[in-house]
Amino acid sequence: MPGFEIFDAKEKQGLLEVIDKGFTFRYNFDGVRNHVWKAKEFESLITKKFNLKHAHLVSSGTAALTTALAAAGIGAGDEVIVPAFTFVASWEVLLFAGAIPVVADIDESLTIDPKHLEEKITSRTKAVNLVHMCGATGNLNEIKRICDKHNLILIEDACQSTGATYNGQYLGTIGQVGTLSFDSVKTISCGEGGAVLTNDPKIYQLAHQLSDHGHDHIGSDRGAESHPIIGYNYRISEMNAAVGVAQFNKIDKILAIQRKNKKILKDFLAQFSEVSFRQISDPEGDNASFLSIFLPTGERTLEVHRKLQEESATGVFYWYINNWHYLKNWEHILNLKFPANLPISLNSNLPDYNKADYSISDSIMKRSLSFLINLSWDEKEIEKRLAIFSKVFYK
Ligand SMILES: *Cc1c(COP(=O)(O)O)cnc(C)c1O
Repeated sequence: MPGFEIFDAKEKQGLLEVIDKGFTFRYNFDGVRNHVWKAKEFESLITKKFNLKHAHLVSSGTAALTTALAAAGIGAGDEVIVPAFTFVASWEVLLFAGAIPVVADIDESLTIDPKHLEEKITSRTKAVNLVHMCGATGNLNEIKRICDKHNLILIEDACQSTGATYNGQYLGTIGQVGTLSFDSVKTISCGEGGAVLTNDPKIYQLAHQLSDHGHDHIGSDRGAESHPIIGYNYRISEMNAAVGVAQFNKIDKILAIQRKNKKILKDFLAQFSEVSFRQISDPEGDNASFLSIFLPTGERTLEVHRKLQEESATGVFYWYINNWHYLKNWEHILNLKFPANLPISLNSNLPDYNKADYSISDSIMKRSLSFLINLSWDEKEIEKRLAIFSKVFYK
């Protein structure tokens, strides 16, 4: 998955262009920047490739989610359905917005299970945050149908799935608003960066304003611009955007390597009767940054994970016990440990997340392992992994 693995002269060249001829600020200053506009260039690469009306770059995927929520009109008191298996940012942004996260179960697609989704909808539900974990998605059609039926905003968090598609459409472009992350371990990496994706001109305009102190960006004389709304600073720098341009130009190459490497691992693992695979509704669209498998029981998964570690296998994730991606392991979120008395800490409508029922998600998470697919592997590296698999898995 990590695009940094193939940093080369192109990323360097982009950075040097900003330092030598350009300017580090993404807006205005036409006189000093010598026509170097890296953020704009990156945005137009995304919209062209994704067949999308608007992409707006910000400083991180978390900033993209924060911006997307506000631009889509999601705020205090609004319930947003969000999976228990996700990245912690999904929860942080809702809590800081004063919204109420409502836990959704996941299924063997490792994304929200549409079967139980409708049970979570109340009169206060405003949106569903569908997080496309580990490079792919599940039953997006069904989730979109439920959102449309109940008039809910579908947010697609595609931070882990840049370049993945579903029935030919890029993930992040199907709901009302989507997000990408370009942090240092993502498919496309520019150090720190993110993007808000939308076809809705109103959401785009608000995202633009929100992420730069409310500036309307009309006219080139900064300072003469007006402030239609109160905003914040979530701007990306031209240096990050320059690296992003070089990386995004390699997206087809990155996906091709990931898909090739993943296929070798998956085909090999298919011979072991105890292994089954994550359900991906459109396998062709998988960005292939991870290979995720299931084992028959939680005990066996724990054992396999331990054995893989003993064999020094790298890039193996047992999310169920790892502290990054499962709500149940986030003591600070479960217990709402805010740094100060934020508006949300006064919200008595927040449920006790310690008491939520995690049994369905648990039953999935307990049996699942994910393998990171690297770009840098040569044949020897792959052979080494297959040899370890042969030692650890049962036929
Ligand atoms: C990485 C990630 C984010 C946040 O992105 P940052 O750029 O690190 O802020 C949000 N959601 C998911 C699913 C992620 O994996």
